[in-house]
Amino acid sequence: MTIGSPPSTALAPPAAADTHCPYCALQCAMTLTPDPAGSAPVRVEGRMFPTNRGGLCKKGWTSAALLASPERLTTPLIRDAGALRPASWDEALERIASSLRAIRAADGPDAVAVFGGGGLTNEKAYLLGKFARVALGTSRIDYNGRFCMSSAAAAGNRAFGIDRGLPFPVSDLDDADTILLLGSNVAATMPPLLSHLAGARAAGGLIVVDPRRSQTAELTADGAGAHLQPAPGTDLVLLLGLTHIVLADGLADRDYLDERTVGVDALRRSVASWWPERVQSATGIPVALLRTTAHRLARGRGTYILTGRGVEQHVDGTDTATAAINLALVLGLPGRPDSGYGTLTGQGNGQGGREHGQKSDQLPGYRKIADPADRAAVAAVWGVDPDTLPGSGVPAVQLLGMLGEPGGVRALLVHGANVVISGPDAHAVAAGLRALDLLVVCDFVLSDTAALADVVLPVTQWAEEEGTLTTLEGRIIRRRRALAPPSGVRSELEILADLAARLDAPSEWPTDPALVFAELARASAGGIADYSGLSHALLDAQLAAGVAAHWPYPAGSDGTPRLFAERFAHPDGRARLVPVQPRERDPEAPDEEPPHGAATDEGAQSALLTLITGRLLEHYQSGAQTRRVAELTDAQPRARAELHPATAARLGIADGDPVAVRNARGRVIADALLTERIRLDTVFLPFHFADAECANLLTAAVADPISGMPEFKRTTVVVAAEGRQGAGARAGAARVPA
Ligand code: SF4
Repeated sequence: MTIGSPPSTALAPPAAADTHCPYCALQCAMTLTPDPAGSAPVRVEGRMFPTNRGGLCKKGWTSAALLASPERLTTPLIRDAGALRPASWDEALERIASSLRAIRAADGPDAVAVFGGGGLTNEKAYLLGKFARVALGTSRIDYNGRFCMSSAAAAGNRAFGIDRGLPFPVSDLDDADTILLLGSNVAATMPPLLSHLAGARAAGGLIVVDPRRSQTAELTADGAGAHLQPAPGTDLVLLLGLTHIVLADGLADRDYLDERTVGVDALRRSVASWWPERVQSATGIPVALLRTTAHRLARGRGTYILTGRGVEQHVDGTDTATAAINLALVLGLPGRPDSGYGTLTGQGNGQGGREHGQKSDQLPGYRKIADPADRAAVAAVWGVDPDTLPGSGVPAVQLLGMLGEPGGVRALLVHGANVVISGPDAHAVAAGLRALDLLVVCDFVLSDTAALADVVLPVTQWAEEEGTLTTLEGRIIRRRRALAPPSGVRSELEILADLAARLDAPSEWPTDPALVFAELARASAGGIADYSGLSHALLDAQLAAGVAAHWPYPAGSDGTPRLFAERFAHPDGRARLVPVQPRERDPEAPDEEPPHGAATDEGAQSALLTLITGRLLEHYQSGAQTRRVAELTDAQPRARAELHPATAARLGIADGDPVAVRNARGRVIADALLTERIRLDTVFLPFHFADAECANLLTAAVADPISGMPEFKRTTVVVAAEGRQGAGARAGAARVPA
């Protein structure tokens, strides 16, 4: 569906702009130069920067294509008689404001909810949180970062008293002797990061933990390290076993434990029963490899432990990340100048997006909305009575479960998210969205979620706007405008300010990103994520001088590139060792009948497997952007289900055959990709695709009880051949979510 006219390139200013990639949290630096004769309005070149050293991945190189996309939205859309039609800004905004007023009057402010995104700039994330609390008065705001970072964040907060993905600059990894990388396929998700792993590989110390022999695990070949391939869902047991060996074999840093931590005795008791043979039995990793790994980690020079979503997107993700932190603390790594622990943030502003008020329990500066002092501090900046601010809301999975429910959410405003693809149990999410009285989506293309909206507002995209983001290493960077947005498109800052005025909201609603950042900085002063010493002007000056800005950055400071050198963020300065154990699970009973009454021709040959979902090099998150870039979709046009050749042979499936992956929640059709990189008991699906290829049709809306993180990495499914109709079967598959 094409809405409006393609963006004009005639408005492009002539100067080149130094900015950063629109996609992941590595935030590779790039220069955009106007290119009137090109297929896109700007030419992309990699720029030297500590995170990417001039390198970009395919997504970065092709990122300008969307700026000229014929699918670009350039006018608001309103649903009338079941179809979206163009509308004026005034009509669209008044439709939203009048609906919000009516819903709030009838059912109270919590009948309206807001869903944000980890790709929004700090300024947008901040203003969105303020808009929810001050203009709407709702407690119901959360964001898609809940799907990515919440378990690692919860673990970091309880162990260290602070949540910064990498508490050191990413370039510190260059000098590592040993890196234990758990559940992260950086070779596919952020390839320029690999240059920082080269030292550990050269030293034979890259240890990758992944049930798949991923592209990153392949990098451990030829003496570069080791690949540990645990059974899906056993990462926590593996970490308990490694900690057991470190303690039992006298490898722990006793002085560090005494001086910098609390809780070692309880931790020692908690891992005592996880002896190596028992861990081997649970994980499938040989005892000898467990011992070698533990002893390698304790060699005493340049050791880093890093986690990613593979170990975190589980119902025990917080505990697994905690177990990784415990191992790091027992080895005495966090805060040492040559070692450390960290987690690799995924989304472009996944770090900053979780610091400034999009989370249901949070106010700017990583302040707690339930804390009276934090409420008073932020309310003073906003010029409102702290008693008018709502309390804590609910995390994203719970919020999505309230859509259209009695006493739940009647109106939802979505910014920078595509929940119908990225949320677990996608059928249920789609049904909830359809049950709303008002769904408003801000986007620059008609995403899968926007296609269901009552009102769609066309917004600026990365190269058309100013702002800041915070990288995976807590470095605040500047997003710079390289060209003017198309006529008819507005910034979300302008949209929120306009709606605030229509709703007669108190407080100031600046639309200049520099002014919004200045207010954010004031609101964060004294908080954990303190940005009060920063401004756009200072960041620009520092960029020109090659000086980095890492938070906390209180007024009068030079920022904090490295945390924990002398103390952790708990009041006593010590890290917490938190004992954790695997929890009993209710084994999922997959529906042995064809789900949703759909007929299949798969016959009797089927297998119960564990589904793991993840990313491909060519695509980003829900694919709303990258599925619209021809070079990327040409390379990865659709979902492929990775199966082990032996599993496939048992099911009569050949490479490229269509397969059905199903359970009680849904059914996905994908072409088989046979590879020995995957375990016999596992199937892998990328989560970037829509309709019948949407992996989240299968995942459950169950979440970690501490963090609210859904379990994307462990779903029981039935896999079988999907007949031999090839493309006809795909075309005939029901459009889902439906
Ligand atoms: Fe860099 Fe990530 Fe962009 Fe690739 S997607 S160019 S790794 S920021």
